[in-house]
Parts: sequence; C-alpha cells; structure tokens
Amino acid sequence: MSFVAHRSLKETYRKAVRGEGIYVFDADGNKYLDGSSGAGVSCLGHSNERVISAIKEQAEKLCFASSVFYTNDPTEELAAVLAKGAPGDLKYATFGCGGSEQVEGALKIARQYHVDRGEPSRTIMIARRQSYHGMTLGTLNVGGHIGRRQLYTPMFAPTHLIAPHYAYRERREGETAAAYSLRVANELETKILELGQENVAAFIAEPVVGATNGCVAADDVYFKRIREICDQYGVLLILDEVFCGMGRTGTRHACEQDSVLPDLLVMAKGLGGGYQPISALLISEKIINAVKDGRGYIANGHTYMNHPLNCAAGLAVQQEIADRDLIANVAKQGAYLRARLEESFGQHAHVGDIRGRGLMQALEFVVDRETKEPFPPEKQLWAKLQKTAMTHGLMCYPNGGTIDGIKGDHVILAPPYIISEAQ
Ligand code: PLP
Repeated sequence: MSFVAHRSLKETYRKAVRGEGIYVFDADGNKYLDGSSGAGVSCLGHSNERVISAIKEQAEKLCFASSVFYTNDPTEELAAVLAKGAPGDLKYATFGCGGSEQVEGALKIARQYHVDRGEPSRTIMIARRQSYHGMTLGTLNVGGHIGRRQLYTPMFAPTHLIAPHYAYRERREGETAAAYSLRVANELETKILELGQENVAAFIAEPVVGATNGCVAADDVYFKRIREICDQYGVLLILDEVFCGMGRTGTRHACEQDSVLPDLLVMAKGLGGGYQPISALLISEKIINAVKDGRGYIANGHTYMNHPLNCAAGLAVQQEIADRDLIANVAKQGAYLRARLEESFGQHAHVGDIRGRGLMQALEFVVDRETKEPFPPEKQLWAKLQKTAMTHGLMCYPNGGTIDGIKGDHVILAPPYIISEAQ
C-alpha cells in the first residue's frame, strides 16, 4: 500500500507523470484529454512555458517572505492586475493557497466589518442549499452538500440555508423565469426577517454553482433582487467564484453576466491554473475603510498569505490569458461545446438537462426525461461515467450523491481555456 493517505483507501490511483497542453500522461504511457481541467483548475493546460519561466525566475530571486514582515513585488503586481479588472469598488486583494481558506477569510472579514462599525450582534451567515464553499469546518457550515458535511453537522452552529436557484427542478409549472427568480431571491428577505436583520452578517452564493448541482447559473433578475435585499438590510454579499471565476464562464468574473456587484469576491482555481496553489479575496473599498477606521488591521492571516512564488505564477497566468485573449476563446469554444453536447445528448433518454456557461458545462442524468426522476443512489451514473471516460482517455468531473434531498447526478466538462474546436 502507498504511504499516501489517498482520497479513497480502497482504490489504486493512476500516477500522473507529465502534462502537455490539454493532455495529462500517466506512468503507463496513457494520454488523457483534461476535459475538466482537473477540478476546474488547469485553465492554461499543462506545461505553459511562460508560467514555468516566471516561477523559475521568482524562485531564484525569492521563494518566501513572511507577510508579517514584508510585502513583495509579485503580490503587489497581481493585486494591481486584479483591482484594475475588478468591477465596482473591489479594489483590494489578499492572497492565500486554496478556495476554502479564502471563503473563510471572506466570512471572517464580513463579521469584522460589522463589529468594527459598531454592530457586533451581526454574526449569522446565510447560504443556499446546494452550494459548496469548501471542506474546512467554517466553509462546510455554510455549504449545502449533505454528503460532504453530514459527518460534521453535530459540530456546527445552526446553519441558515435558503433555496438555491435551480430552475430545472424547482421552477413551478406555469411560473415564468422572472417570477421564479424573484420567488427564490425573496427567500433571503424572509430569512433575514425571521432571524432579525441586526443578527445577520452576510449572504454567500456561487454565481454559477460548481460541485453540488453542477453548472447551475441564476440570472440578473435573481441577483438584482438579492443585491437589493442585502442593501436594504445592511447584509454583505459574498460571491464565491472559486470554480466559476477568472474567465471560466466567458467573462473574467462570472458575476459580470448577472450585473451584480458583491462586497467580497473569492477566486481560486483559474487564478493560478494549478501552477501554484493560490487563491484571492477581493475586498470592497467600503469594507477596507470600515476596518481601517475600526481596529486598523484585518483579523485574519495565514503563514503562506501573499506568497511571492504563488503570486508570480498567478501573475504570469493572468498575463498569458490577457495576451492570448483566452477569455474570448472560452466564450467561443464554450458555445461550440454546448452546441455539440446538445446535438449529441439533447435527446438522450437519460440526459435530463444540459447547462452551464462558457467552458463550464454539465450533463444531469435522470431515469426519465419527462418526469425528471433521478436514478436511485446505487444506480447513479456520475461515478461510473467518470471511470469509463478515463478508460477512453477523457477526464470529466463527476458529482452526485444526496445534495439537499435531491439526488444530484451529473458530470462537468470544463476543459482548459486553450482548447481548440478540433480538440
Ligand atoms: N468554493 C467553490 C465554489 C469550490 O468549487 C471549491 C472547490 O471545489 C471551494 C470553494 C473550495 O476550494 P478548495 O478545495 O481549494 O479549498
């Protein structure tokens, strides 16, 4: 047995040894098309020379400088790139190593903002069922992925979850798209009033949901109403774009397509494309000013915060995306992928829904297209399909199991932004 405590202790894993463009190679010489960028990460594909050179150059200069003592050039430059490309007043960035770490950071600074402004009773976070915000205890506590959180649920403070935006299953017969969006957005207001607005700190959501029900986007009616409610009750809006951000949906930030401006924006996977583990939190000027006038420092920080090597990699990835106009390629190839999925599976007896934005597309599986009845857990397709696809040289990202009572059963296709039509 390997000395590595792998995710599954009952499986043997292929050994990845090399990557090139959109392909990964294993130790047995097999080649896999990285149809999911791993878990939505490898936006530039593998072995990008410019990024590798930037990492080497930075490694030779300085690998680590503690943020307790210093700032550093790559961190300053990457923050400037993000601030310039960010909507509204999201002008400040802080960097970490993973999505969960940064979602935790967002929840904590939301709380600090209220305390520093003299509203310490605001402690509650509201989230959505069928949302995934990470694997740490704090992020599981605002997540709706029952499979991932149930072991730890007894350890949590009460979680306040409202309806997701999931029109495929939850829009009522005869209800218009706009009426559905308003109905589910208004659940936030009902929840805030139930809990008392003076007790609510923030609402967190993914603009395009990744790991739970698979590539489900809402619309601008929904997010406009969500923003209005947050403003009316003094609740901060946190958007988690760990999966769907940094170009994945065909715009730099997924929220641009819903014309909504959050107070805090989390990003990770496409930021560094897997070349280094890096995540970022964009913070609005409003929050930074409140904290500056309050205790004067952010009451959060980790050892590898603002890591020079990680930021150098992130900077090179973002420069490469900009110089090659790759977000335009995401929109173009995303539309092509979607058209081909519709053509191939649009009438398939067991494909209930095809959905997503840009290069973030999912197929949801059902027993019956008309009734939308899901497969029973032991017959779900997601895991089998992922394994079968691997034997044919394709990586696709699977997810299923029970998600808030709904039997999620889907695979996600999220190839690198560099993919061509032929590939
Ligand atoms: N938030 C979202 C939307 C995610 O998709 C993920 C990971 O898939 C996370 C948070 C957690 O990120 P990490 O696994 O890097 O901690």
